[in-house]
Amino acid sequence: MRSHVVVVGGGVSGLATAYRLLQQPDGPAVTVLEAGPRFGGKVATATVAGLPVDTGPDSLLVRMPAVRTLLDELGLADQVEGPAPSGAYVWTRGALRPLPPASLFGVPERLLPLLTSGLVTPLGLLRAGADLLLPRRELPADPTIADLLRHRLGDQVFDRLVDPMLGGVHAGRADRLSARSAVPEVMSLLEGARSVYLTMRRREKKPASGPALVSMPGGMGRLLDALVAACADADLRTDAAVASIRARADGRYDVTLAGSTVVVADDVVVTTPAYTAAELLADVAPDAATELASIEYVDVATVMLSYRRDQVEHPLDRTGFLVPPVDGRLLVGCSWLTSKWGHLAHDTRVVIRAMVGRDGDTRWTSMSDAELVAAIHDELVESVGVTARPSEVHVQRWPAAMPQYTVGHADRLAAIDAALAAVPGIHVTGAAYRGVGLAGCISQAARTSTAVHARTAHDDGTTHDDSLVTAR
Ligand SMILES: Cc1cc2nc3c(=O)[nH]c(=O)nc-3n(C[C@H](O)[C@H](O)[C@H](O)COP(=O)(O)OP(=O)(O)OC[C@H]3O[C@@H](n4cnc5c(N)ncnc54)[C@H](O)[C@@H]3O)c2cc1C
Repeated sequence: MRSHVVVVGGGVSGLATAYRLLQQPDGPAVTVLEAGPRFGGKVATATVAGLPVDTGPDSLLVRMPAVRTLLDELGLADQVEGPAPSGAYVWTRGALRPLPPASLFGVPERLLPLLTSGLVTPLGLLRAGADLLLPRRELPADPTIADLLRHRLGDQVFDRLVDPMLGGVHAGRADRLSARSAVPEVMSLLEGARSVYLTMRRREKKPASGPALVSMPGGMGRLLDALVAACADADLRTDAAVASIRARADGRYDVTLAGSTVVVADDVVVTTPAYTAAELLADVAPDAATELASIEYVDVATVMLSYRRDQVEHPLDRTGFLVPPVDGRLLVGCSWLTSKWGHLAHDTRVVIRAMVGRDGDTRWTSMSDAELVAAIHDELVESVGVTARPSEVHVQRWPAAMPQYTVGHADRLAAIDAALAAVPGIHVTGAAYRGVGLAGCISQAARTSTAVHARTAHDDGTTHDDSLVTAR
């Protein structure tokens, strides 16, 4: 019998999983059920100042082999573009301060540039230098990023470099995120090391073969469009919200849609956010559901503002800026899109993508769109000297969008894996687990499809009579 796999959720995780399953020799029949009216999930593009700008993810990490392979196979490898090589700023201590180069997740390799940029005071620099002398300290089994780094680098470097970097990627706080789960590269580099600074200097640096992060002219939606096109052999449905998943007596699963249509599946891959996965698996895998429900999420929003070039005093000569939580601003960071990406360059206008929302800062959620835009505009007056109101704005709120890999995350994943091992045919994959970004989702999708295929590879090409959708 040819197996039937139902993928719940049509974001990058769902589509990349479906695509990989279809690529397997003698792969299963695949159905993708997406609740919304379009595929893509958090990948979304809007038009601002006539330019296609991403309101969700705008950059893709291309270091991971699974990402490079996918781009090659979809014919997109030569369609991507790196950001301007100018670096970024940190808005702190009342000015935009150049972010030092050669830092790993904000962990600096050289200390002196922090002083020349004004990021830290001479006292802050001295304190950071103490890292060279301080003895090694015993860490908890699952240290936070703050446990790992604050006592070595001192408060100033930690608060003004490390914490803001985490805002941009995780919308999280260093004193809550697990170093092992959120920044595994930093953790494996520094685990057991004494001096952070010396370890950073001595680490092996592979020569860069192109930019690590890329965007896609026309918007990141092109990646999703290409995935949809490459999944032509799958049954792809939008407006198909899954309401429940139940075990059948024959070892397969009933996947019931909101309108009570039932799809019968041998395997079900749930790629929704973890809190939805928890609801869907409450019946079939209650222990996994309890753990899934405990994965926290943070609300964020992106706000695009377009100004006339001559209405901004700052030259916007880098890619944008990050803002340390310690400064108490609403902004978490800003990308100057028309400076950052060549394909968005504009002669007379600038488009700024502002990001708000991080763990512990929900001030903006009670504001109307107009109030939010006004508050962001005020911070742009201070940081980059805008001198007029924006001529065009676009607000995109992303409620419960950013999963937090807080302390205990690895244990939660182990518990989910153990619980699902007892329910053969049920899988979860996506941003909530082992990689919060697009690249992490693509890599996990490849691994998940391998696990599904290993279970379903006994196919002989025929289909169950009742695999297809039945209405009740
Ligand atoms: C503002 C913002 C900026 C970001 N920037 C970057 C970036 O620059 N680079 C980067 O790599 N990553 C970035 N990310 C993270 C990235 O967007 C996510 O990692 C990725 O899009 C998650 O994809 P996913 O498929 O796992 O989840 P989602 O995109 O959330 O997809 C899940 C899908 O499941 C569907 N669904 C939910 N419930 C049901 C149901 N009951 N039945 C059927 N379908 C259902 C949803 O409608 C959705 O389409 C950003 C995220 C945000 C919010």
